[in-house]
Amino acid sequence: MHRRQALIAAVAFAWQACGQVRPGEFSGEAALRHARHAAALGPRPPGSAALEQLRSYIVKELEKLRCELLRDRFTAETPLGPMKMENLIARFAGRSGRAVAITGHYETKWMPDIRFVGANDGGASTGFLLELARVVSQSGFRNEILIVFFDGEESFGPWSETDGLYGSRHLAARWATDSTLSRLKALINVDMIGDRDLGILREMHSTPWLRELVWRTAAELGLGRHFLDREAWVEDDHVPFLRRGVSAVNLIDFEYGPANSYWHTEQDTPDKLSAESFAVVGRVVLEVLRKLE
Ligand SMILES: [Zn+2]
Repeated sequence: MHRRQALIAAVAFAWQACGQVRPGEFSGEAALRHARHAAALGPRPPGSAALEQLRSYIVKELEKLRCELLRDRFTAETPLGPMKMENLIARFAGRSGRAVAITGHYETKWMPDIRFVGANDGGASTGFLLELARVVSQSGFRNEILIVFFDGEESFGPWSETDGLYGSRHLAARWATDSTLSRLKALINVDMIGDRDLGILREMHSTPWLRELVWRTAAELGLGRHFLDREAWVEDDHVPFLRRGVSAVNLIDFEYGPANSYWHTEQDTPDKLSAESFAVVGRVVLEVLRKLE
């Protein structure tokens, strides 16, 4: 970590510790707290008791807010056999007739040989979405806002068309049969955005107008240094929606530790995260939601 970042993190912490987060403002500290809670539950692969505990925690947090909670239960065919999975969807009603979805995964990769707690990969998206839900509940957007916690993002064997993205493939199919997909203006997926050395790649599957809107907004907010020029193609939970014609963007930091060495290893622990990184993404996403009004 650079010294300048350490100073920013310390200042952010002191500021929020004084209880000065204004209503409608995203608290990086609160998002980090949720991510730490998730990681402390241990490995959380689909079907595990730890994931059930996290699901209870997410539901309990969402029940504090004025939203409708949808529990999207399904059985996925995996290389390990049929597996029960569940997406959680918080729906904040709007008046525009259109909707925007913000999504991420809450489970962690099944890695039987190591103790993989996924603080950033699974934990960060969970913490981010919970704090975003709190802010959205106070914000009164005209668009309906759908905050989605996906199960089964990770593959069990080698990544393939049929192994991985279980929750998002299921929900995209479900939303194609009701009216939701046609009402979606945009879908923003977040993954691994808690890294204290935050650098978000220009993910090239993403819809160009939406991706450029995010990059332009970050620059306007003076946060452009975290949104890199570097391009990469990363398949993630936005892809099943792109394939069905939804405008979607994936916000992912895919250089987690030197040469991405913390990714899918025991090194993915809460000490690698910072409240400031969550706050950067939170501010940008909220401003993009305002522009999509
Ligand atoms: Zn992963």
